[in-house]
Amino acid sequence: MERRSFIKKVAVTSVAAGAAIAAPSVANAKTKIRWKMVTTWPKNFPGLGANANYLAKLIGEMSGGRIKIKVYGAKELVPAFEVFDAVSQGTAQMGHGGAYYWKGKHEATQFFSSVPFGMTAQEVNGWLYYGGGMELWRELYAKFNLIPTASGNTGVQMGGWFNREIKSAEDLKGLKMRIPGLGGEVLKRAGGTPVNLPGGEIFTSLQSGNIDATEWVGPYNDMAFGLHKAAKYYYYPGWHEPGSIIECFINKEAFEALPDDLQSIVLAACKAANMDMLADFTAKNNQALDLLVNKHGVQLKQFPDDVLRQLKTISEQVVTEIAERDPMAKKIYASYSAFQKQAAMWQGISEQAYTRARSL
Ligand code: CA
Repeated sequence: MERRSFIKKVAVTSVAAGAAIAAPSVANAKTKIRWKMVTTWPKNFPGLGANANYLAKLIGEMSGGRIKIKVYGAKELVPAFEVFDAVSQGTAQMGHGGAYYWKGKHEATQFFSSVPFGMTAQEVNGWLYYGGGMELWRELYAKFNLIPTASGNTGVQMGGWFNREIKSAEDLKGLKMRIPGLGGEVLKRAGGTPVNLPGGEIFTSLQSGNIDATEWVGPYNDMAFGLHKAAKYYYYPGWHEPGSIIECFINKEAFEALPDDLQSIVLAACKAANMDMLADFTAKNNQALDLLVNKHGVQLKQFPDDVLRQLKTISEQVVTEIAERDPMAKKIYASYSAFQKQAAMWQGISEQAYTRARSL
């Protein structure tokens, strides 16, 4: 390992020295940069894996082929939950995943995927790009040698697939459910047993009865895993993930070694991929929900209001405690919650009031 890291350092140093000597414009135009992107998703998985592929393709095209990115599915180069370390250490230059997978690195990473009863996609994008969220995310990931950004959003997720009905908060007790991040902690305090499994292991665990319930994403992605074949009830809404950010993070040295125009291309491509994924999910969730209900006979169920109220109370406790444990988490949560409070007022008289009016 020491030898490898020494060789890598020498290689990086010589590239940097070479670039400084050559005329930058000539060197930049001819340089072919080859990057690896490791992901937490099964290779080519609809929506999530597709977003990684789209991002790599877009960066290749926008840069006129100057950056070529090879995308690896989970386990191809590193296992799903080792993606963060792999990019941090420079084994790969880019990573693609969900920030709540890294709560073991820092609890505040979870604020950058989704907060239970937190912001929707539209609101969280406002916070990231124009409300100070992105700056805080960069500050948080800096000590891990990473530059994070958003490259997708799932929109409001589904509550999940259950093999037993949830009629009251009592029914959450003893429930073994795949639910990552803050939502998992909330379920734990409600008496359940949260389990964190990568996507590729969910179907078998649910079918074998190893877990009683699972959440994944929404109709489009859930149908791709065939989860409707392993559980009876499909609950909504996804209180735990109201607008999950899909992240892309870049090894700091790799990013800083790029000329300015390529840095700008990489970040602009991520922004385009962020918009693309939400549009893709909006279109495909509509179609998949129709198929699940009308072709596969899936039973849709809404969580009772008193269950949601209890989960909301617990969520507020969980998030507040995280903020109290760590100054960086406190700073991020203060910014997030202040933005959400303002956004809720506007949302109430815009989207919310309009969708209500539309359904009268
Ligand atoms: Ca999810």
